[in-house]
Amino acid sequence: MPSRVLLIYTGGTIGMGRNPATGALEPLDFNYLIDRMPELAAIPVAVDVHQFPQPIDSSDMNPKLWAQLVHMIADSYDRYDGFVILHGTDTMAFTASALSFMLENLTKPVILTGSQLPIQQLRTDGRENLITSIEIAAAHDADGHPRVPEVCIYFSGKLLRGNRSTKINSEGFNAFDSFNCPHLADAGVNIVYHDDLILRPDYDRPMKPHYVMDTGVIVFTLFPGIEEDTVRHLLATPRLRAIVMRTYGSGNAPQQPWLMEALTEATARGITIINITQCAAGPVQMARYSGGFLLKNAGIISGYDGTVECAVAKLMHLLGHTTDSSFIRDHMIRPLCGEITPPPFQE
Ligand code: ASP
Repeated sequence: MPSRVLLIYTGGTIGMGRNPATGALEPLDFNYLIDRMPELAAIPVAVDVHQFPQPIDSSDMNPKLWAQLVHMIADSYDRYDGFVILHGTDTMAFTASALSFMLENLTKPVILTGSQLPIQQLRTDGRENLITSIEIAAAHDADGHPRVPEVCIYFSGKLLRGNRSTKINSEGFNAFDSFNCPHLADAGVNIVYHDDLILRPDYDRPMKPHYVMDTGVIVFTLFPGIEEDTVRHLLATPRLRAIVMRTYGSGNAPQQPWLMEALTEATARGITIINITQCAAGPVQMARYSGGFLLKNAGIISGYDGTVECAVAKLMHLLGHTTDSSFIRDHMIRPLCGEITPPPFQE
C-alpha cells in the first residue's frame, strides 16, 4: 500500500499570483497551484489535500490558525503516515516552533515548506521543495516507523528541526537555516538522513494535541542608547506575562542600575524574562561577563542556544497552560522537543 500524506495548504508565495491592478503577489486557491504541478499526480504517495478556507500571506499567521492546523492534524492523525504544510516563508519558523510544542509526543512527520518564487514561474524553487517534503513525510525506517517523527522545515535541500530554524534570506532560495542545530537530512541526488540527530518519540504513548496559547509575550531588543522610559513603559504593558529579551553576544546587557532595577521588579512580579542572544549562532552564557551576570541576578533566565521564534512559541504554549511562573521557568530551561541544547551550556 502506498504511504498516505495529508498536504495542508495555508497560502504563501508558492501559491501566489500577481494582482493585475497592483502588481503585488497575493495568495490564490490551491487548485491554481495543483493545475501548475502535474508532477503531484506522478509521485508514488497517496496525497490528500486540505486547505485554509482563505489562503493567507504568512504575515497574517496567528495562534488561532496554529490551533486550526493542530485540529487538522489531530483529527486525521491515524489516517496518514505524515503531513506536509505549505506555508509562507515569513513566519514559517514561528509556526514550526509552535507546532512542535502543540503536538506533544509527535510520532509522525510534519514537514513545513514553501518557496521564494511562485509555482508558475519557470525558475521556481517550489516544485523541488514540495516534492521532496512529500517524500520525507512518507519515508519509513527499517522498523516501519516514520523516518523523521518531528516538526521540520524542508527548504532548498535542507531538512531542519522546526523549532531550531530561522529565516535567513529574503531573496535567495537558501531561505532557512538552524545555526545551533545540525541538519536532520540533506537532499542532493539522494536524501541523506542523519538518523542519530532525529528525535525518537515514545510509540507506546499517543500524540497529545494542545490548542491553547497565551499571547501575553513581547520581544524586546537591546540597543546602545535605549532609554529608561522606553523600558519602563514596555514593562508596564497590560496583560504582559513574558519577555524574550534579545541581548548582546553571549547574553550581555548594559550595566545600568535603572535597567537592572526595572528588570528585577518585573521578574519579582512574576514576569518571565528569557535571555536570547542577538547573534545568529552560539549560546547565551550569562556567567561569562558582568552584564550577563547582573541579568541573572535580576531573575532573568538563560534561553541557551534557542531562537527568538522558538522562545516566543514556547512561552505562549507554557503560559497557555499555567499561571505558575516557577513551572514556566523550570520548563523554559529544559528541552521539551529538542529546542535548546542541554549542558554543557547550562548555567
Ligand atoms: N510573504 C510571503 C509569506 O510569508 C513570503 C513567502 O511565502 O515566501 O506568505
